[in-house]
Amino acid sequence: MKKILTWLLERLARLIPLWLYPLFVRRASIDFFYHAVSDEPMEHARHLYPVVPVAQFEEALLFLKERYQFISYARLHAARISGEALPANAVHLSFDDGFQECFSVVRPILMDYSIPCTFFLTTDWIDNRAMFYRNKISLCIDRLRADPSTLPRLGSLTPGDLTLEATIGWLKELRLPDEDVINQVCRQLAVDWEKFLCESQPYLTTSQVQQMTAEGFTIGAHTKTHRKLRDLSDAEIEEEIVESCREVQGITGQEIVPFSFPHSAFGIDRGLLFSIRVRYPFVGLLFDTKGVRKDDSFMVNRVWAERPLTPERVLHPLPQVLHNAYQEAWVDEVMGLARRIKT
Ligand SMILES: [Zn+2]
Repeated sequence: MKKILTWLLERLARLIPLWLYPLFVRRASIDFFYHAVSDEPMEHARHLYPVVPVAQFEEALLFLKERYQFISYARLHAARISGEALPANAVHLSFDDGFQECFSVVRPILMDYSIPCTFFLTTDWIDNRAMFYRNKISLCIDRLRADPSTLPRLGSLTPGDLTLEATIGWLKELRLPDEDVINQVCRQLAVDWEKFLCESQPYLTTSQVQQMTAEGFTIGAHTKTHRKLRDLSDAEIEEEIVESCREVQGITGQEIVPFSFPHSAFGIDRGLLFSIRVRYPFVGLLFDTKGVRKDDSFMVNRVWAERPLTPERVLHPLPQVLHNAYQEAWVDEVMGLARRIKT
């Protein structure tokens, strides 16, 4: 019965036009987040999610500028914490991971359009001190796609004799605790990630972050190591949140440092998060990835702007991504209402 109802609702949700949704899925603000905008290939990121071409990013900004009013983190914080009013159709923009393109590509565009933005940084990568294990994986996939004859070199590292696509699927599932295996794969494929880190400088530097702060952008934290917090103990979750916010505060001098969850905040105890914010008042609002769904007042859900909506994992126009987010939130709300009526 639940499956049939969900199926029916999902089909009905697609028929509701985007412009109609805000009338019954009412939100004080909508949030979008990106990772990578560039006309360069970004081989360290492009196999993880689509890299957004500059023209498509500008198109998305123009769509938002026509229909929404961009607000800074400070205004969003004041609205969520002190109940201050927001303009109608408020929208907040953010970027996760702290790629250097945030400075070189995104920042000048946002300054041209006078759009405020929050950049969430994984603090261990600032100044290119370390490389994200998933960026190493993307480089390995790039090598395998460019030269599939290198596949047999992985030999016993993979779980069985895998095809190219199956090997790529296996690589994408590797996590931080598998970093030794990832490093071995890099060696076998002659992917010199240390040289890439040194020469390409893929992440923001302290001086770039300080310049962005001086220019009026907000800097947030995105953990120290980009680990999936759900897999950690409460003490480890607290350390990842508090210490990354503390490091950003040290670099920027911001009184409040917002935080965004790598992957998502799914399965993380809201009581623990509430307690962390009470004990460490410099930890600001917490940003998740669940589109336009509702959550606690200190949790801000965001629409993943580059989210591939089809198995081909191609980039979709922002209105389509927003429409999809509204559909998911509406189906969830109706299902929640149905459950409450039943009980
Ligand atoms: Zn991230």
